[in-house]
Amino acid sequence: MTSSRSEEFDLGIVGAGPAGLSAAVTAADAGCRVVLLDSAERIGGQYHRHPPASLAGDTRVGKVFGQLRAGFEAHVQAGRVDHRPGHAVWSLVREQQFVVNALQGERERAARSVRVRSVLVATGAHDRQVPFPGWTLPGVVAVGGAQALYKGSRVAVGRRVVVAGTGPFLLPVAVGLLAAGVEVVAVVEANDPRAYARAPRALVGALHKLPEAAGYALALARHRVPYLTRHAVVSAHGSRRLEGVTVSRVQGDWTPVAGTQRSLPCDALAVGYGFTAQLELLLGLGCEAAPGGGGLAVAVDGKQRTTVEGVYAAGETTGIGGADLAAVEGALAGAAAARALGMTALPGPAAIRRLEARRRRLRRFAQVLHAVHPVRDGWTTWVDDSTLVCRCEEVTVGALRQAVDEHGAVEARTVKLLARPGMGWCQGRICGTATATLTSCLSGRPTTTQDAVGAATRTLAQPVPLGVLASLYDEPARDGDVAHDREETP
Ligand SMILES: Cc1cc2nc3c(=O)[nH]c(=O)nc-3n(C[C@H](O)[C@H](O)[C@H](O)COP(=O)(O)OP(=O)(O)OC[C@H]3O[C@@H](n4cnc5c(N)ncnc54)[C@H](O)[C@@H]3O)c2cc1C
Repeated sequence: MTSSRSEEFDLGIVGAGPAGLSAAVTAADAGCRVVLLDSAERIGGQYHRHPPASLAGDTRVGKVFGQLRAGFEAHVQAGRVDHRPGHAVWSLVREQQFVVNALQGERERAARSVRVRSVLVATGAHDRQVPFPGWTLPGVVAVGGAQALYKGSRVAVGRRVVVAGTGPFLLPVAVGLLAAGVEVVAVVEANDPRAYARAPRALVGALHKLPEAAGYALALARHRVPYLTRHAVVSAHGSRRLEGVTVSRVQGDWTPVAGTQRSLPCDALAVGYGFTAQLELLLGLGCEAAPGGGGLAVAVDGKQRTTVEGVYAAGETTGIGGADLAAVEGALAGAAAARALGMTALPGPAAIRRLEARRRRLRRFAQVLHAVHPVRDGWTTWVDDSTLVCRCEEVTVGALRQAVDEHGAVEARTVKLLARPGMGWCQGRICGTATATLTSCLSGRPTTTQDAVGAATRTLAQPVPLGVLASLYDEPARDGDVAHDREETP
């Protein structure tokens, strides 16, 4: 049995971060009927994550997000935007229109589908990890996870924390932990930030970020937190949980410098090597992707159109670039989608030109960030054969080596079939890039675009109960919004 509302949406947006929200507001301003789905209960995405009002303390949000939220809420009130929190989208299907398939609720996981004329994917990114001995010990967490705990739930990840990896994101996390009363033992950055000095023009375009960066530097100095550059955490130790880490100075390619290793006692390690864009929904629709923006990114033109007609992308899905760039891209995508859908209350040409100029400046700055904070293949020298690569299926580096050396595998996909990395619950979100890099290093060839696309492709963007998949084959044709009432748990 199905129930159906006679609603029809012009634009379906997946993701309520700065990109999705800004697209929703612009498209609704222009006259579109918008449906916005997000697996999270609250809007804001990763950057604007804030604690629920039920938690004591300061729940204020910044001015930019405050304005975005006010515009969004006005459209929701007026019925121009249908906001669906708690909806995890697991596939997008292209028929005459697009069908957005989602699961509602963490426990119920009820199947929901909605038809839209165009679709915009703003699903953001997740933390990128590289394996090293001890990285699966309790107490080792992703930097994004440490931040989500104190930002979203006001919980500190430990009492003495080392923050490590690469990228500017280490700084707000370290400072956030300090503000939460945690002792930050050190911030360990694998690259050399002095390289920023080589791109003064791009830095001028990001002057608004200077006070933020200065604030982080001051906070670290005030708390006497060492900022170790060209250093990396090469192993973590502890009998039942984390007790300390080994830090080493590293060469430009991240191979450790002999004789520079030392131990730092700590009870938590927050570690992250940048971000990986969440491209499953876009790759599932057949959109082209290419290396860029700090990893693999979906290809878009000046109007944020992907290579599939009617499909737009904005924010981290088009390359890792930060919340400001995500919001600008969202506005441009919302305007372009509205125009293509025949709306008339569009932003004027001058407003579009201003947005395009801002996008150019912010993208230039993002390119500098990626040039200064790349992930170098030298991390593959930190691991040994007993190091886990895939924590879901407990696959070691040794198992990957066996697949390459004994069975002649040269591609990550073949290694996956032989040794099972990426076949567990996370479907390779955590280990996919590491498996691809290790496979190419072990087989003595460079990592290719095909390796990166293989690591990012997943048939389903979310785990889906079998009953939901089965119900797709006995549903009658649907109009507008459809709620399936047959569910099963996985
Ligand atoms: C863990 C983490 C922490 C970060 N913290 C900072 C920070 O402190 N400072 C900073 O400058 N930048 C930070 N960033 C970078 C930041 O994410 C971006 O700059 C900015 O938030 C990108 O905006 P976006 O709209 O592209 O994506 P996001 O803000 O990531 O929003 C994406 C949204 O899509 C939703 N979503 C994803 N997949 C699905 C799906 N299948 N179905 C339904 N909904 C889905 C998510 O729930 C999320 O709300 C962080 C990134 C991550 C991953």
